[in-house]
Amino acid sequence: MGTDNRGHMEVEPAANEGWTTPRSGVDIVIVGAGITGIYQLYLALESGFSAVLLEAGDGVGGTWYWNRYPEARFDSESYTYAYIFSKELFCEWEWQDHFASQPEIERYMNSVVDKFDLRRHIRLAAKVTSAVYDEESASWAVRVNDGSELTGRFVISATGVLSVPYFPDVPGREGFKGVSVHTGLWPNEPVDFAGKRVAVIGTGSSGVQLIPAIADEVASLTIYQRSANWCTPLNNRPITPEEQAQLKSGFDELRGTLLRSRSGFLHLPCDRATFDDSKEERLAFYEELWNRPGFAKFSSNYTDMLTNAAANAEWCGFIAHKIRGIVKDPDVAERLIPKDHGYGGKRPPYVTGYYETYNKPNVTLVDLKATPITRVTEVGIETTEGLREFDVIVWATGFDFGTGALLRMDLSGRDGRKLRDHWADGPRTFLGLMCHGFPNFFFPGGPHGSAGNNPRYSGDQSDFIDDALVYMRAHGYRIVEVPAALEKEWTDMVNTEAEKQGFGHQSYFFGLNIPGKPRRFLINPAGRPTLLQIMSKIVERDYEGFLA
Ligand code: NAP
Repeated sequence: MGTDNRGHMEVEPAANEGWTTPRSGVDIVIVGAGITGIYQLYLALESGFSAVLLEAGDGVGGTWYWNRYPEARFDSESYTYAYIFSKELFCEWEWQDHFASQPEIERYMNSVVDKFDLRRHIRLAAKVTSAVYDEESASWAVRVNDGSELTGRFVISATGVLSVPYFPDVPGREGFKGVSVHTGLWPNEPVDFAGKRVAVIGTGSSGVQLIPAIADEVASLTIYQRSANWCTPLNNRPITPEEQAQLKSGFDELRGTLLRSRSGFLHLPCDRATFDDSKEERLAFYEELWNRPGFAKFSSNYTDMLTNAAANAEWCGFIAHKIRGIVKDPDVAERLIPKDHGYGGKRPPYVTGYYETYNKPNVTLVDLKATPITRVTEVGIETTEGLREFDVIVWATGFDFGTGALLRMDLSGRDGRKLRDHWADGPRTFLGLMCHGFPNFFFPGGPHGSAGNNPRYSGDQSDFIDDALVYMRAHGYRIVEVPAALEKEWTDMVNTEAEKQGFGHQSYFFGLNIPGKPRRFLINPAGRPTLLQIMSKIVERDYEGFLA
């Protein structure tokens, strides 16, 4: 027995009685061809399992396939978000920008699929409509929207947390006669904005990326904002040839840093609290953060930025001052400064030229708190202030985060228990990865699993799953299932810790954007090292309590 390239113990496959691939199926059915699903497929094939990946879209990339609106791009550094399982792949693919744009990401995903010869195991335009566990055969019957059915001993749902677009229930929405698009369901053909009267509803990360990108070509751009967000510069730029060389030579170190990082980023935590510094030192530090790339503003901020209200207010005051300095109309500037949450109360967006856009003569901000939308008509949007006519409406209104895709898959576990009933009061999971009563079923990258640079967490989970299945095959086990007590322990931890830490309390991280959704924390407050520690303990103890 040796170790594999992930540093995990290798278990030799052995012939045994417990392991049989279903006659009319495969060992593993993977759902979703995003970053997580593609990696899971790669692992499954490397480990010698038969596998098929079902993907609802017509191409691979998952969230990076569907979110193809102008200027959609990473706000994690390209080389920290992308795959790090293969040094060869890492060194072969040269990202153009520190924060790659959607077309480059989609090209990358396709190149990975081809490099590892995965395409013949992927079925596109195959949306899973139900999955039912059969106790006797310890396998799942998976139904697809084309009417076909296949059997898998295991189902691994890599359906993502941001994959079900949310359209608010605005009267008349479907009767609009112009072009109506959602950022998370963007058409394959580019949307023609040139010379058009365009409305954008929503100013979360998607809206604020798109708005500056189209402002110059449209005739008019009207932005419907319900809540302002704390936007700070992404500070993207091309990766220089010297940096490309450094990335390649520093691969092992980069991988090690990511492995130790709480949130899967390279940004190092700060060693000081806000009021350890004098006012001048603080301003200089904030200015430095403002000019640093992406999530550094979050991950490298003062240690108490999220937990001390006065500290949070200092940082927010700095950003508000910046907004007032950029936006020329003081009334518009005030409306762009959040009044309902501090930094981190919602997931902060990172922008390029966003606030500057409001200085353009063809751009108008509509404050929906002052003048709410009453309905959409055939020709435009009506608020309490009156009707404005449009050619294009962009819905940048977000997603049914975390649980949306899993709950829509109509999953039935042991004794026909539905996942939607098991999760009626919010998700109940172990490590955001599996749940009790649903044997041989995993959901890497799902709710409760990650918080930060998602692929780093879901990659750890995929490794754990693959190792477990290899172990099961070698030792003749048929069933893997988390004990109820461990599911309860993790779920209780998530719910308790969520209230203590200062992140996401006013946001979709608690399901607050979807009317009627239970208020439950949907991400992992424990951080990546904890997740890794727990998983390695389970491996060390030979999955005691999990296998039958
Ligand atoms: P979001 O953050 O949920 O923002 C949705 C926006 O729509 C909010 O401004 C929201 O206002 C507004 N909205 C929702 N319902 C509305 C209604 N009935 N009337 C008017 N406005 C309404 O969604 P998102 O912008 O798509 O971003 C979701 C997540 O995707 C991000 O947080 C991020 O994790 C990820 N993302 C990442 C990137 C990137 O840079 N890598 C880019 C895009 C997205 P309220 O705030 O008032 O609810």
